Amino acid sequence: MMKTIDDFAVEGVRVLVRADLNVPLDGGHVADDGRILASLPTLATLKARGARIIVCAHLGRPGGKPDPRYSLAPVAARLAGLLGERVEFAADTTGPAARAAVAALRPGGVVMLENLRFDAAETSKDDAQRGRFADQLAGLADLYVSDGFGAVHRKHASVYDVALRLPHAAGYLVQAEVAALARLTANIRRPYLVVLGGAKVTDKFGAFGSLLGAADRILVGGAMAFPFLAALGHPTGTSLLAADQVDAAAACLDKAVPGQIELPSDLVVAAEVAASAPHRVVAADAIPDGQMGLDIGPETAARFTAALGEAGTVFWNGPMGVFELTPYAAGTLAVARAITEGSAFSVVGGGDTGAALRALGIAEEAFGHVSTGGGASLEFIEGKTLPGLAVLETP
Ligand code: ADP
Ligand code: MG
Repeated sequence: MMKTIDDFAVEGVRVLVRADLNVPLDGGHVADDGRILASLPTLATLKARGARIIVCAHLGRPGGKPDPRYSLAPVAARLAGLLGERVEFAADTTGPAARAAVAALRPGGVVMLENLRFDAAETSKDDAQRGRFADQLAGLADLYVSDGFGAVHRKHASVYDVALRLPHAAGYLVQAEVAALARLTANIRRPYLVVLGGAKVTDKFGAFGSLLGAADRILVGGAMAFPFLAALGHPTGTSLLAADQVDAAAACLDKAVPGQIELPSDLVVAAEVAASAPHRVVAADAIPDGQMGLDIGPETAARFTAALGEAGTVFWNGPMGVFELTPYAAGTLAVARAITEGSAFSVVGGGDTGAALRALGIAEEAFGHVSTGGGASLEFIEGKTLPGLAVLETP
């Protein structure tokens, strides 16, 4: 059984919280604080109960060495604002600054450690190397709380190894994520529709095969559509497409029952990824030379809307177009509206998909659950064992 923070007396206890604070930064400022907000319930509760709180997290991919561009300092500042509490920032992760800040912690106080990935040991494939780093992290605390859902599919020192070294509990975010995603793995209310889009296409093909085994229909948009259009022999112009994805798409089409995979029938195309570029709607099987698909077209949006209106369960991962630019946001907006106006139990996964909802002004409360984890939520509903969750089940 996974214990939660409610199972522990935490007053005065040093609690190491692994959070997912991997937020987009824009010129040193937090551009989207969704993941910080999602971490607040656990942090605020621990604070109210008088724990000495040590927050650790990663930001971006600094490559195992300190790099000021990936400092968590701006994140600590935003967290302080949201918590309404001073957050002491340690300039290193497990070094003298971290140890001094932790030693000075009062009950209810909060310290944030510098980016875990400034140390190559955090993500190392070598168990011993990760173990040594986990020893240092564990040495800072008496209890470990896992609340960084977006990282639980990684066997990283702060996600996995540290839980082997300290009493451990799931935070409220991890608890809520697991409860919601579990509804997509058993007793699924049908029809079960999956909407897949976005740009991390190669990563998502891993999940596509197993989703075909679970979902009644998979609606495909975003850059995910191009390998399928190419596999069917249609031109894709200059659309985002890696050659190796075409075989994967062909294999999915082979595996699917007829009609199970729904592709765009029309697309918004332009010569470049720019709001100012002239754009128009074309048939999806006739992308002109020199043009790229940047959104699903209105006919596709209407088809997807109709399908989603009849769904019992929906899982959505990946925007339908380049929603960051207004001319290519309509498809993503249509899908979001269709899901929220329907009666399906809905889960949205994917960092950029969550950011799209916030950018387009769609209330997260209108969905059953908005997951903070992209890869983690996909792997969960694929039925894979996630190291950071499995380790919480151990005594
Ligand atoms: P998530 O984080 O939700 O899993 P991804 O990271 O896979 O989503 O992809 C998000 C990105 O996909 C967005 O920045 C969006 O601009 C981009 N995108 C969506 N459709 C297209 C397209 N047709 N061509 C290029 N990029 C696209
Ligand atoms: Mg993304």
